[in-house]
Order: sequence, then structure tokens, then C-alpha cells
Amino acid sequence: MAAGLTAQGRYFDGASARPHPVTVSLTDRLAVSGPGISRDWNLLDLRATETVPPLTRVGAAGEAARVEFSDEALAAALAARCPDLYRRESRGGTLRLVLWSVAAGLSVLLVAVFGVPVLARLAVPLVPDAAETRLGRAVEEQVVRLLNEPPLCTDPAGRAVLDALVARLAGAAPDLPRDVAVSVRRNGLANALTLPGARIVVLSDLIAKARSADEFAGVLAHEFGHAALRDPTRSLIQASATSFLLSLVLGDLTGSTVIVAVGQAALSAGYSREAERAADAYAVALMNRVGGNGAALAAILERIARDEGEDDLAFLRSHPFTRERAAAIRAQAGPEAEAKRILSEAEWASLRAICGPDAAKPEKSRRRRPGSDARP
Ligand SMILES: [Zn+2]
Repeated sequence: MAAGLTAQGRYFDGASARPHPVTVSLTDRLAVSGPGISRDWNLLDLRATETVPPLTRVGAAGEAARVEFSDEALAAALAARCPDLYRRESRGGTLRLVLWSVAAGLSVLLVAVFGVPVLARLAVPLVPDAAETRLGRAVEEQVVRLLNEPPLCTDPAGRAVLDALVARLAGAAPDLPRDVAVSVRRNGLANALTLPGARIVVLSDLIAKARSADEFAGVLAHEFGHAALRDPTRSLIQASATSFLLSLVLGDLTGSTVIVAVGQAALSAGYSREAERAADAYAVALMNRVGGNGAALAAILERIARDEGEDDLAFLRSHPFTRERAAAIRAQAGPEAEAKRILSEAEWASLRAICGPDAAKPEKSRRRRPGSDARP
């Protein structure tokens, strides 16, 4: 006789993980009752979920509430009376599920590839100043870590010249979001990075590679351009959103992908050709305005491209448009620019020694990380 089987069990309401002790009774329906709980399920609606025997866990299809019990007689009786208890999705259902998963994955990829750049562009003006400042600090920490903590260069005389140069450029620079913070770190990469919140990190080999103050100032002015056009914030939103979406597809939701991607993007992902052209144009106009040689930027870009090209093709691969950029810079600067000097020779000598007297010469054995490139 199957009527009137009863067992003790635990009821989960589907909203919280808290088990409620209940009595489970099987008649022509399945009744679940306990303090404050009274359920009465139609046997045709019942579905079991995967459990380790002797535990049985059942609930009505389409409902989150479940009851579980370990009484094997009740489980057997239930299985005998509920034709659909262990029904799995039919083959068609499984296939449909797989297709839906693939479609969802593809749509996330499409959003990552086509939607994210557009969304990043739209999102940038909405990022509050305070958030951008915090983002900049966090990214700088990450970048410094990725570069193996290169020491800050703080020689007082060099720092004073740099501060005056930064103030002079900033005084004539339009659209800067806020005060620019420029730091110099001793590192064998000829690079300058603009991070969100107008934070510019200069790596000392850039100063060593510069043959004049105007070359260095030109790169600095170019980075001011990126800051004014808010390229770093846009590219970081893009990189983190893309890797966030990819981590959804690939199932890695630890967040580590996102953090690493943000740091990597700040270090090595080049901006678009349009962004570089715009920053170049900004730099030349700014150098002209403060009485420097705007054409010097073209010279240092060509030198970095050439020197990097001797070791590996990293820079040339990510900047295949150096020649075109150099021509545009020289045309905009005009022929009279070449004669202008932004600093005196003495000031430039002090600035070159900002990392100490020996750092002014290019390092012989430069430790370059593979995949990292110069991106002024
Ligand atoms: Zn650039």
C-alpha cells in the first residue's frame, strides 16, 4: 500500500538557504507541513533534482522551493507515482540550451568587439572627477608593479626644472581635466604613459633618448594631449569592459583578468591612429604656443622607432604610422620651429640628471619586457 507514506524532511523556501524542518506526506498529492509552512504539490508537477542517495530533493517545476528527505520508501513511492519526477530535458531541449549558450556567448563577443568602444566613448564624460582620480591612482600602482617597482627620480634641481616646464605647458594647454601630475621613474624603457586623472609617468630612458629639451617637452605635450582628450580613461574602460565580458564567456569571474587587463592596457595597448594624430596635433600647437620647437616631437618619435626596430619590431608593429605622423608634425610645426628652444642648455642638463648623473646615458643592457612598446 502506497497511501499515507510520511517522513521527516527539510524545506527550503527558494529565497534563503535556511532549512525548515517539515513533515512530508505522500497521498494523492505531496504535502509538506511544518511551523509556518504548508505546501501541497500536485504529483504531476514534481521534479527531482540531482542528489546523492539516499537524499531525495523535489519541488514543483518552475518553482524555487524544494523539500528534501532521506526516506527511501517515500522516495520509491514518489518515483512510482510521479511519471515526470526524473524527467530530464529532452534531447531537443538540451540542443536548444546549447544553442542558446552559444548565441549568448557570441552576442557578448559582438558587444565586446563592436559595442564596447562605442560605450566607452559615451561613458567617459560620465566618469566623475573623483572617480577618475581614484582610477588613475589605482592604475599607476598596478603599472608600477608591472614594471617591477622602478624608483622615483627626485633629484631636486632636475625636479625643479621639470615642475617649471610642466607648469609652463599646463598654463597654455586647453581642456586639461585637472592639474597634471608628472612623475619620472628610472626604467630602461623609452616611454611615457598617461593614466586617467591626468597622471603622466615618464620612464627615464625617454629622457636619455631625447637629444634636446624640445624633444622631451614635445613628448610631454603629446601626453598632455592624451590627457586633454581623455584617451586613457576611454581605453581603460574599453579594456576592462572587454575583458570583463570575455571573462563572462570564458567563465573566469575571479576578476583577476580584469585587473591584469587594465594594467596591461595602460602599459602596452596603443591608441588608435586617430587618437595619436589628435595628440600630436595638440602637442605641436602647445609647443608653438609656449615658444618651443614643435617639430622636435617628430625627431624623437623616429629615433625611438628606429632604435626599437634594431632589437625587435614591437614599436614598429604597434606604430606602423610613425613616418606619416612625423610628416604631419613637421608640416604643422612649420619651418621656423626648428630654431626654437624651450629650455636653456643648463636647465636641460639639470633635467637630464633627474634620476642621478649616470642615468642620462642610455643603458647598455636594457631590460625590455617582451610585448611592451614605447607609446608616446
Ligand atoms: Zn600617444
